Formats: sequence, C-alpha cells, structure tokens
Amino acid sequence: MDAIVKNILANSTELGEVEKPSREEAEAAVETLLRWIGEDPAREGLLDTPKRVVKAYEELYAGYEMDPDEELCRTFEQVSGYSGAVTIRDIPFFSHCEHHMVPIIGKAHVSYLPDGKVVGLSKIARVVDIFAKRLQTQESMTAQVSNSITEALQPKGVAVVIEAEHMCMSMRGIKKHGSVTVTSSFTGEYENNTDEQLKFMASIGKS
Ligand SMILES: [Zn+2]
Repeated sequence: MDAIVKNILANSTELGEVEKPSREEAEAAVETLLRWIGEDPAREGLLDTPKRVVKAYEELYAGYEMDPDEELCRTFEQVSGYSGAVTIRDIPFFSHCEHHMVPIIGKAHVSYLPDGKVVGLSKIARVVDIFAKRLQTQESMTAQVSNSITEALQPKGVAVVIEAEHMCMSMRGIKKHGSVTVTSSFTGEYENNTDEQLKFMASIGKS
C-alpha cells in the first residue's frame, strides 16, 4: 500500500479526522494565548513570536507526519548467527503531555530478541523519537514503541522501559521537581522468562 495512503488510514482510525487549520489561523491562536497570559502581542519582542511558536511546533510535533513502520520496514536477516538480545539503552527524548502540552523529558531503553529479523540500531531510536514528537502519556508511548517493534520484526520478545520527568508535575500542580515516572512493557520471552527480564534490567543498570 502507498505509504501516504497508509498513513492517512492509520491517522483516520487512530487519531480521527481533523481538519488542519491554516498557518495564519495557528499564529492567531498563539496571539490569543499571549493576550490570555497578560501580554501585549504588539510589543517589539513578541512581534514574531506567533510565527516562531508555530514553526517550533512543526518540529516538536513532527511525529504526526512520520510513520514508524517506514523506519522499521528495512530489516536484515544476516546476523552471522547472533541470537542474543539487541538492546539500546538511554535513548534520550523530549515529548509533551497530552493533558497540559508541557514537556516530558526522559530516556527510553528498548530491547528485542530477534527471530531472524533485525533493523539498523538507529531505527529503534528513530521510532522512539516519532512517538515522542506527538502529544503523549508515558503509558501510551511505552505501548506504542513496543507494538510497532512487535509488528515490524515479529521478535521473540520486546522490552521497553521509559523513565521521564513530567514538567506538568514539576512546574505546576503538585510541583514535585525531580520525580521520575517509570513505565515498562514486556512481551513474549521478556514477559514469560524471568531470566531474560533480569538480564535486560541489568543491561540498563537496574537490578
Ligand atoms: Zn500533564
């Protein structure tokens, strides 16, 4: 299936049909928010702020335009008999919480037990990035990373651990600066085999 069509189908089922506003409408919305916080959008320092915010949003939320399946579709079968886990730890990411649209800053640890198919290591980090660049809850992001690797590689197991600080808890609300939320997902052998799970936890520096 054509990648764009596939993306549209995926978006229409997962994200619903939303009509995209024009750039001018998005900039006007930022101007409204500036007035809402008590600012004067006409003062010199803020004149280009709506333009800059909209441009920054294109980068911060670029994940909606990207398809994780496309990153994972080029697989390799030649691994010279290697049959162990492939683990990428400490993948840094920035995301935004879907409740307040403030940053989630963290790192992801991802591992899979190949069943013949592997991908380039950077692709796993790329998948983390694609899901991070959407509005998120940490729980959903953990499941999304795990699901897309499972679907693309059909491995014997996938382990995903995400550790992150939610700025909506640090800067506002209960203001617990420095608290870290940890989420995890274990599938296949990582779920059923305690040894594999422990080995993964040790490899990411957790006992
Ligand atoms: Zn939040």
